[in-house]
This record gives sequence, structure tokens and C-alpha cells, in this order.
Amino acid sequence: MKKNTGSVPKIIPVYPLAMTAQEDTEEFNSLYVAHQKIYPRSVTGLFAKWRWVMVLVTQLVFYGLPWFEWGQRQAVLFDLGARRFYILGIVLYPQDFIYLTALLVICALSLFLFTAVAGRLWCGYACPQTVYSEIFMWIERQVEGDRSARIRLDDSPMSLEKLVKKWYKHFLWISLSLWTGFTFVGYFTPVRALGMEFFSGHMSSWEVFWVFFYGFATYGNAGFMREQVCKYMCPYARFQSAMFDKDTLIVTYDEQRGEPRGARRKKADTATLNLGACVDCTLCVQVCPTGIDIRKGLQYECIGCGACADVCDGVMDQMGYPRGLVKYSTQHAIEQGWTHAQVLLRIFRPRVWIYTLILWTIVIAVGVSLAMRSPFKVDVVRDRASLARIVAGGKIENNYRLQIMNAAEQEQRFTIAAHGLPGLTLVTDDQVTVASTESQWISVRLQLPYGAIAAGSHPIHFSITSGSPSEKIVEKSVFLVPR
Ligand code: SF4
Ligand code: SF4
Repeated sequence: MKKNTGSVPKIIPVYPLAMTAQEDTEEFNSLYVAHQKIYPRSVTGLFAKWRWVMVLVTQLVFYGLPWFEWGQRQAVLFDLGARRFYILGIVLYPQDFIYLTALLVICALSLFLFTAVAGRLWCGYACPQTVYSEIFMWIERQVEGDRSARIRLDDSPMSLEKLVKKWYKHFLWISLSLWTGFTFVGYFTPVRALGMEFFSGHMSSWEVFWVFFYGFATYGNAGFMREQVCKYMCPYARFQSAMFDKDTLIVTYDEQRGEPRGARRKKADTATLNLGACVDCTLCVQVCPTGIDIRKGLQYECIGCGACADVCDGVMDQMGYPRGLVKYSTQHAIEQGWTHAQVLLRIFRPRVWIYTLILWTIVIAVGVSLAMRSPFKVDVVRDRASLARIVAGGKIENNYRLQIMNAAEQEQRFTIAAHGLPGLTLVTDDQVTVASTESQWISVRLQLPYGAIAAGSHPIHFSITSGSPSEKIVEKSVFLVPR
């Protein structure tokens, strides 16, 4: 495996969308070149701070949420076995699948909106691949040192020191990966019980499989694959350019200011030397987690993390030049020399307003629907095992099965009634109590005097009323009268 020691790897520009034949060939060839290991240099600065804030926030939520309790149960639990999802005070049944669909639509629209405004903001700051790569690289730096120390260590022959460092790094990576896998499974199995099963060695085979599978995926993706996931596996990188326009915020190199690039002394007169602001230190390449050179323009490998902007600002400070040679800007702003205010003004363009409007409409509709949803659900199924029959007393009887799902956190008492035909009588118990967040199947029998109506199928409806009279569900069914 070759190493990236600061030289600029081959790149494939994708924006503007149309590629030249030569670029096409380059992309084809690049799929066959040997992988160059990337050793990103550590970086400090405004965007690095924001990235760490996002790492902390997302991981506090991910690792912490399963341990929170809501009343007597886990606050967030996707109980696939019981076919029930608990999200804080909300209990969702498979019949609430529409909310999952709405959530996916909201996520997709949010992605469109954020991409239209700020390019690959999600990729650079909140994508799990970025977040875990950042954590794994931090562990790597703590154990093996920064970029040059890591390159030296990898180049050196095997020694006790190298063995211990490598072993320790992988031990930490694997521990974190397994903890991540355990937490992931904790969203689908009560996490406290899972912990007890883990320590007593009684985890089910599926739980063991998913802990190791998710852990292995984390270890592989964040420890080894890193930028290759973004380059070759992530579909988002491929279609993002369709959502970009010339007013989308991207990390850009100010070519007009930076070129011609070249080394010079700190106090050197750039006008005399005919040099731009870029000192050609290659630090922007060295800090890049995907190993690209932002000075070659926007490339699809760029995840918009801002590391190159941070490090270049540091170089500009040292040289006494104004910051912002590499910065978040837009193509229009760079081409036309816009001010910050002009750039911000263009962010609120029609497509952004349209995305925002649609997004908020759906969010509000889902919120209202959740707030107004009934605290129980009912399914009526005709009992196919026993069709309509004539019973004692000369009556026609039909059997049904009702599933009452209590979506409230308290026990509920329900009253069942049947309507729609003269003389229709419910002969089973019309009262039923269902425990909190439980569902219960109830057998119901309806009778009608023989000869009251003609033979055939007649529409009827069940009404199920909970403790509060305002909470009533009416379900349709049919009553069969044999010839
Ligand atoms: S960090 Fe800035 S000055 Fe150094 S090579 Fe990159 S763009 Fe040029
Ligand atoms: S070019 Fe800059 S913004 Fe893009 S991935 Fe590399 S360091 Fe991050």
C-alpha cells in the first residue's frame, strides 16, 4: 500500500457536471490505481472546533439515549419483537408506518435544503462516517502521534515499540467499535437487560450477531476505509452536484488572490516576486481527510469539512496576510467579488425558500397529526374459522376478532358496540381493559334474529370508545346472513 506523503494525488473534477473525455478517462483509470494511505495532519481552528462540537453532540445523543428512562420503560426503543416503537411519550404501532415515511421525507428534504444552502455540511460535520473517522483518528494520534510520527512509524521495521503501539491502537478501536455495536442493539432490545445478558453470557444469537456486525462495520469503515467510503461507496457524493448551484456555499480556494503560488520569505514583497498569497506549503493537502488539493477546484471527494480553510488561515496569520485564501464561499461570490452580506443575501434564493416551505409544511402536519392521534387503535378481522351460523334461539351469529392497541401510557377501559342492522346484538362482553402500551385480541360475537333481513352480506360498523367519550373509533365490517 502506497503512502500519501504530501504529494498531490490524482483528482477528478465533477463540477461543472459535464466531464471532458480526458477527465472521464482519468476517473476510469483512478479506479484501478493502488490505494494511497492518507495521513491527515491534525488541525485547529474555527471549523475544527465546530466539527468536534458536532462529534460530542451526536455521540452524546447516540450513546446516551438508550439509557434514559421514560416512566417505567426505555425512552427510545424500537421493539421489533413486540412490533412497537417507543419514542419518548409516543408509542407507535406498525399501523403508524406513515410517520416513518414522513420522517424519511423530512430527512431527504432537510438534506436537499442544507445542501442547497451550504453544500456538504452534513458530510463534513454530522455524517457518522465523518464523526467516527474523526474519533478513530483522534485515538490514532494519541497513540501513534501526528502525521509525520505516524509516517515514520509505518516506515520503520517491526519493533517492540511499534508492536505495542499498533496493538494498543487496535485494542482501543475494537473496544469502541464493540461499544458502538452494543449501543446500536440497545435501541432494539432494552439496553439494561442487554447489559445483564452480556455480563451473564445469555445474549441471544441475533443480539451477538448484530453487536459484532455493527462493531465490525464501525471498525472497518472508520479505521481503514475512511475516505474510500466517501469516494466510492456513498451515493450522496455522486448526486450532490445535482443539488449545487453557483450560490451554494462550498470550500473554495481564491485563485485570483492565491496565484501564482510559491515559497517566499515572510517579509518578501509579493509584487516584486510576482507571487500571489499562496505560499505553496501544501498544508491544505496534508490536513485533508480525503487527500485532495482544494487549489484544483471543487472535487467530488471534498466533504466540505473546512480543515483546509482552518490550516490556511493559520498560514495567512503567520505570513501577515488577510485570512480567507481558502474559505466557505460561493462560485458567484468568488467570480464577482461579492461581500459577506451579498453572499448571505443570495443564500435565501427561491429554491431555498421552496425547500424550507415544503419542509415546514410537512413538519407541522406531522406534529399536528401526532398531537391529535387517537390514544388507541383498532383492527377488526372476521373470524374465518367460523362462518355465519344459526345458533340456539333461532338466531344468526357472526364471529369477529378485534385487536385493540392501547397507545397510551396508562391502562384504558374500552366499550365495544355494533351498529348498522335492526336487532343486531353484541352477545359477548362489551367492556375490555387493555394495559398501557399493550395490544389485545378480543373475540366478539354478533347475533341477529333469523329472517330479520335478507340473505347476503350487510355492512355494519363497530364503535370502540375509550374512557373519554371524545375518543371513539369506528371500524367497518360486514354481517353475513346464510341462505
Ligand atoms: S495552506 Fe494556504 S498557503 Fe498553504 S498551500 Fe494551501 S492554499 Fe497555499
Ligand atoms: S478539500 Fe478541504 S474541505 Fe474538502 S475535504 Fe479536504 S480539507 Fe475538507
